[in-house]
Amino acid sequence: MLKTITSLLFICLISINCFAQQPTKPNASQIYQSLEKLNFLGSVLYVAAHPDDENTRLISYMANHVKARTAYLSLTRGDGGQNLIGPEIRELLGVIRTQELLTARQIDGGEQRFTRANDFGYSKHPDETLAIWNKEEVLSDVVLAIRQFKPDVIINRFDHRSPGSTHGHHTSSAMLSFEAFDIANDKNRYPNQVKQYGTWQPKREFFNTSWWFYGSREKFDAADKSNLLNFDIGEYYPSSGLSNTEIAALSRSQHKSQGFGNTGTRGSQIEYIELIKGELPTDKSNIFDGIDTSWNRVKVGKVIGGILEKAQKDFNFTNPSASIPELVKAYNLIQNLEDYHWKAIKTKEIKEIIYACSGLYLEAVSESRTAVTLDDEAKLNIEIINRSNSNISLESLTMPYESDIRKGLNLIKNKPLKIEDVVLINKSIDTEAPLTTPYWLTEKGTLGMYSVKDKSLIGLPETPRYLNVTFHLNIEGSPISYTKPIIYKTNDPVKGEVYKPFEIIPEASAKISEKVIIFENEEQKEIPVIVKAGRDNLEGSITLDYPNDWSVFPKQQKINIEHKGQEQTIIFTIIPPKNQSEGTLSPIITIGNSKYTKELIEIDYDHIPFQTVLLPSESRIVRLDIKKRGENIAYIEGAGDVVPESLKQIGYNVITIKPKDITAENLNKFDVVVVGIRAYNTVEALNFKQDILFNFVENGGNMIVQYNTSHRVKVDNIAPYPLTLSRDRVTDEFAEVTFLNAKHEVLNSPNKITQEDFEGWTQERGLYFPNEWSKEFTPILSMNDKGETPKLGSLLVAKHGRGYYIYTGLSFFREFPAGVSGAYRLFANMLSIGKNEIPNPLEIKN
Ligand SMILES: [Zn+2]
Repeated sequence: MLKTITSLLFICLISINCFAQQPTKPNASQIYQSLEKLNFLGSVLYVAAHPDDENTRLISYMANHVKARTAYLSLTRGDGGQNLIGPEIRELLGVIRTQELLTARQIDGGEQRFTRANDFGYSKHPDETLAIWNKEEVLSDVVLAIRQFKPDVIINRFDHRSPGSTHGHHTSSAMLSFEAFDIANDKNRYPNQVKQYGTWQPKREFFNTSWWFYGSREKFDAADKSNLLNFDIGEYYPSSGLSNTEIAALSRSQHKSQGFGNTGTRGSQIEYIELIKGELPTDKSNIFDGIDTSWNRVKVGKVIGGILEKAQKDFNFTNPSASIPELVKAYNLIQNLEDYHWKAIKTKEIKEIIYACSGLYLEAVSESRTAVTLDDEAKLNIEIINRSNSNISLESLTMPYESDIRKGLNLIKNKPLKIEDVVLINKSIDTEAPLTTPYWLTEKGTLGMYSVKDKSLIGLPETPRYLNVTFHLNIEGSPISYTKPIIYKTNDPVKGEVYKPFEIIPEASAKISEKVIIFENEEQKEIPVIVKAGRDNLEGSITLDYPNDWSVFPKQQKINIEHKGQEQTIIFTIIPPKNQSEGTLSPIITIGNSKYTKELIEIDYDHIPFQTVLLPSESRIVRLDIKKRGENIAYIEGAGDVVPESLKQIGYNVITIKPKDITAENLNKFDVVVVGIRAYNTVEALNFKQDILFNFVENGGNMIVQYNTSHRVKVDNIAPYPLTLSRDRVTDEFAEVTFLNAKHEVLNSPNKITQEDFEGWTQERGLYFPNEWSKEFTPILSMNDKGETPKLGSLLVAKHGRGYYIYTGLSFFREFPAGVSGAYRLFANMLSIGKNEIPNPLEIKN
C-alpha cells in the first residue's frame, strides 16, 4: 500500500516538462525543494467530490510553499462527466480522469486518493446522493484515508451546511469529511482499519470558502472574518521561475477531458479558509500553528533533524552528490524509527533524494509491450548507471518469477552497466499475476459504488504494478534498494522517447464494435466480432451468448491467429424475434480449458499514461416494435451527441448539415430538421438561420430542438413563439411520467406510447426544461423529482403554419446509446407528427 502512495511522492516538483509516462529526472533546484519537504513533518488533506473540484492553487501552495505533504481525496473518479477529447464515457472516462488527477498532482506536488463512490450523474441533494452511494462504505473510505494519511489539517472544498445549494455529491463530500474528522479517532469504528493503521485525530478542519459562497464580493468584504485564515496563494518561487498561481494553472490544465485548460495569473491573491472544527490558530496565516512540523515530532527525530537541516544548509547546487554521505547517515537513522508512519514516508522521500543526488538511473525495459498470464516469456534489458563520485555498487537484482541475480559490481562513475536479454518466463497461475486493469472495474458494482474485493486496494489511485525489478545497491556502505516497474519504450519519429507500461493481458479478447444494435424489423443482421490474440499461435473457438427468443448462426466458429496483437474478424448472423425484445449479446472464447469473455480497451492520450482496461465484452440488442413516418432528416450538430447514428439505426436517412448550408432550397429535401444538444449554446451562426428554419416549419416541415442550457444562449429566438428556458431538470430516471394530453398525436401515432415506454431510462429524464411558454405550445408530459413541484416543460409541441415545432429537454441523447426502446418510439412519433394522415409510402411498398 505505502509503496504505491509514496512512489507518487517523489514528483517532478514544479516541473513543467512533466511527461506522465516518463521517469522523473529532477534537477538541483528540484532536489533542493525535495530536501526542504523532507524536513517538514506536517500534512494537509483536501476533500471534494470530483476530479476538477479541487482548488489547485491551494494544493500547490500547501505542497510548494508550506512544504506540507498534501493530498487530494476525490470521493469519485468523475465517471458522470463529459468527454471533450474522445469517445470514452462512464467508467472509461473515470479511468481518464483518474489519470488526469495523477498528472495534475505531479505538477502541483500533491498526492491523490479516492473512495469507492461512483459518480453516477447529477444529484440535486445530498440525501439522494447518500442513498445511492452506500453512505456507510463511503464514510469508512474517508475515515480510512484519514487513518492512512494522518493529516494534521483537513480542508473541504464545499460547505457541509448548505444541502441543496450545489451538486449533491459536493455537499456530501463535505458532510462525510465533517463526520469522519471525529470517527477517525474512535477505535470502535471500523476496528479492522484500526488494527492496521491505528486511530488518528486531525487537529483542525476548514471549509475552503470564497466570496462566491457569500453571494457577492461586497457581502464577503463586509462579512465577519474572525473565523477565517488567509494565505497569499500568489507566492512567487524563484527556484522554479513560476508563481504558485501559474503552477496551479498548469495543474488544472491537465483536466483536458473536461476542457479545463487554464491560463496562469501572477501577483498577490488571497485565499480564505473557514475553521469548522478544532481550535482557531493564533497565527491566522499558519494552518499548522501549534503543531510541531519539525523532526522533533518523532521520537529520536532530533538527531535526524540536525543532520538533515545541515544537509539542506550545505546543499551544493553544482554538486548535489556532496550531500550523499550525510543523507545516507540520516537514512540509516530513519530505519530505526519506531513511528512506522513517518518511517515509511521519510524512507521513500530520502531514498529518492539520494537517487537524484547521485544521478542514478535504474531501468528495466521489456522488448514486448505485453505478457500473458501463463507460460509467456518476455526479454528484459536492464540499464544501471551511477553518475556521481559516490561509492555505489550493485549487489543483486530481484526479478519477477526468477531467483535473485547476484552481481557485486562497483558502479564506476558514468559507466553504464547493461544487462541484456534477461528472459522472464511467467510461471505463475492467474491469481498471482493479476491482469492489468483498473482494480475498481474488475467486479460488477452498483449505480453508486464500485465493488473492490481486495480491501487492501481501497483508496489507491490506480492498480499497483505487478511486474517489478528491485535493484539492491550499496551506497556509501549502506544497503539501499530501489524497486522499479518494468516498462516498455519505443522511439517515435515525432514524439521521441515514448514510455508505456508493461502489461499483463489475457491470451484472447473479443469485442463487438456496436454497443447497441437496433433491429427495427424482423430482418436479420450480420454482426462482426473482433477477436484479438494476446499470444502467438492462438487456436480455439468462439460462441455467442444471447437471449432465448433470438437466434444466432453459426453457433460456433474457429479462431486461428498466428501473431500476438493480430485480430480476426468473425461474422455472426443475428436473427431477431417477431415481437419487441431486448437483451445482451456476449462473445465467449474457448482456448484449451480456458474461457475468455472480456474486451480489451486501450486508452492512448499524450497527457496521461497509456491505459489498458478489461471490461465484460457485450452489446445490447434491441428488437423494436416501431412504426415511423417521414424519411429524410437534416441534423444540425450542437455540442456533440450520437443521435444521428441512432436514428440511422432505426432506418432514417440522416444528413448532417453545416450552418452555412441551411438554406430554404437545401431544406426542401428534408421532412424534419433535428437540432443537436446545446446547439444554441455553441453554434453562434445559427442566430442567422432561425428564420429560414421557422419558414421550413411554416411550409410543412417538422423541427425538433433538443436541450440547451438556460444561460449563454447565442440566438435571439429559440422557437417561433415565446419560450423561456429554465434550470428545471428531473434527475431521477425512474421519476413517474404523467400524460397531460393522452390523446395528443405525439403520444398515439404511429406508435401508441404507454408507461412502459418510460421504463429502463438511464441517468435522468431530462434537463433545462422550459418553464414558461406561449399558448401555441402544448405541454405533453409532467414529471418531477421527489419533493418538487410537477415540471411540465419536458416536451412541448407547437403547430406553426403547416408544420410542427417541438422543443424537448428529455435526454434522448443518453437514452439512444443505451438502447432504450421507449425513447426511440417516442422520438419516431415526434418525427412523424403531422404526417400520420398520409399513408407511409414505405409501408405500401412492403
Ligand atoms: Zn464537482
